[in-house]
Amino acid sequence: MKEKIKSKWGISALTLILVVSSVWLLNFTGNDTPREFTITEQNVIEIKEEVQLDSYGFNVIDTQIEEGRVKRNQSLYLILRDLDVSPQTIYEINKKSKGVFQSNRVNPGQRYIVYKDSDTSKPYRLILHDNALDYVTFEWGDEIKVTTGQKEVTKEINIASGVITSSLYESLVEKGNNILIANRLSEIFAWQIDFFRLYPGDNYKLIYEKQYVDGKPYGIGDILAAEFEHDGRTYDAYYFQGDKSMGFFDSEGNGVQKALLKAPFKFSQRISSSFNRNRFHPVLKRRMPHNGVDYAAPIGTPVLSVGDGEVIEAQYRGANGNIVKIRHNGTYTTAYLHLNGFARGITPGTRVRQGEVIGYVGKTGRVTGVHLHYMIYKNGQPVNPLNIDLPPSKSIDASERSQFEKMVEDLKRKMENDRVESVASVIKEE
Ligand SMILES: [Zn+2]
Repeated sequence: MKEKIKSKWGISALTLILVVSSVWLLNFTGNDTPREFTITEQNVIEIKEEVQLDSYGFNVIDTQIEEGRVKRNQSLYLILRDLDVSPQTIYEINKKSKGVFQSNRVNPGQRYIVYKDSDTSKPYRLILHDNALDYVTFEWGDEIKVTTGQKEVTKEINIASGVITSSLYESLVEKGNNILIANRLSEIFAWQIDFFRLYPGDNYKLIYEKQYVDGKPYGIGDILAAEFEHDGRTYDAYYFQGDKSMGFFDSEGNGVQKALLKAPFKFSQRISSSFNRNRFHPVLKRRMPHNGVDYAAPIGTPVLSVGDGEVIEAQYRGANGNIVKIRHNGTYTTAYLHLNGFARGITPGTRVRQGEVIGYVGKTGRVTGVHLHYMIYKNGQPVNPLNIDLPPSKSIDASERSQFEKMVEDLKRKMENDRVESVASVIKEE
């Protein structure tokens, strides 16, 4: 009972304040000169003419913006129908979409943005996002237009560092860094560090480009410099792009990534079948991927290991015949099939050097004739050995050495400063 009374009084008090203040306002307005009114009107006009662009470059003054996600089984037609767009207009939009947008490309969960006139609440524009970056704009205001666009990716120089306690992945997650950095680092140092066998206490520091879309972290750009201390030894890599030299080099200017031999032979051999994910198999008479390159080399031709590594398989294995598999690093493994026999000492666990003979061309296993089936695995997946993009192992060109050394000095100085904020400001100042 008491409560009710209280609240009743509460309302009355509030009403009183409102009444008082409106009277005061009225008085104030009443006392004002007409000049004051003119100014107010001008202000309104000024706001109407003001241009405020959104991140798509559209004026959002007098515009209502609504965001949504495509629902299951919702087509572009249904999205537009829900926005009360007439079937005739939808038909015109569809016609204009030809060659720009395929209406069957709408998937549940896609983000879309609707622009409506704030006076009439009538929609006149729809932006449909393919992903965080790419989008299609449909407009049906004054004229019907369908265009594609891409959001701007902005970059910021960032520093990441960490000490490994259990894994590189975990040390990145712990510090809130993008886990893609782990892939990049293992690719850069693939020839020096076995990323599957890191030790607690191993540590790293790198300068990289952090990418943003709409102010939100989007991905990582180039890695500019990286230092990795593994098992008490420090490895470093600096990205350099000159006219003569390009890629990652250590602070001495030596190429960090070693190339694999172009082919596992001393002399060039004829290719009888290339890498093909959808080949008609000549023996099995059905479509199956050909995950390697066939070299029609004469029987007994020495087969070379294309890089330094460890033999992880050397045996007769069914359709593969005599196979040798060599693990070069955490990223690359190569395989040599249908061998006539193995070179002396080629057994699992053996270390081999680039160019070392590991076996001889033969026709063991499921084959139609003598050939070597050669494969490269990158992160466990077969890749085409003929177009794999392996960086050169050359050193910095003499003509670009001083330019490179200056860059290294600069990046080293920045890396010494571990705090992200201070590094960002140093770079901004320049
Ligand atoms: Zn083959």
